[in-house]
Amino acid sequence: MTSTVTQTKTKLKIKDRDLKEAVNAKDLDEVLQKVTDVDTICHFTKCKNRTKDFAIQCKYCNKRFCTSHGLPEIHGCGEAVRRDEKRKFLHPDVKLSQEKHSQAQTKLTMKLKQMQLERKAKQNLPNKSKK
Ligand SMILES: [Zn+2]
Ligand SMILES: [Zn+2]
Repeated sequence: MTSTVTQTKTKLKIKDRDLKEAVNAKDLDEVLQKVTDVDTICHFTKCKNRTKDFAIQCKYCNKRFCTSHGLPEIHGCGEAVRRDEKRKFLHPDVKLSQEKHSQAQTKLTMKLKQMQLERKAKQNLPNKSKK
C-alpha cells in the first residue's frame, strides 16, 4: 500500500514539473517570437515587408531584405559594390594566375618534347656507331 502512495506522489511531482516547464517554454516561445519578428522584417528603414518566407541576405552588409530591397544599390550598399568591383578590376588575381599557369604548362610541354627528341637521338646514336 505504501508503494502505491509514493507512486502517486511521484506522478504528481512530475505533473507539477511538466506544468512549470510548459510555462517556461511558453515564455521562451514568446521571447523567440519577438526575436524572429525583428529578424523577419525587411531591414530597409521605411519598409515593413516580412521576410520570413523569402529574404535576400546582402553579402555586403549581411542584413536581410525583402525582394524589392534585396539589391545592394537599392538599400544603400551601392558604394560597397563599386568598391568590390574596383578591387576585382585592379587585382584580377584569378585571371592572372590562370595565365601564368597556362604559360608554365606550355613551357613544360616544350621541355618534354625536347627531352623526347634528345632521348630519341641518344637511342639512335649506338646503332649508328656500331656500323
Ligand atoms: Zn547591403
Ligand atoms: Zn523591403
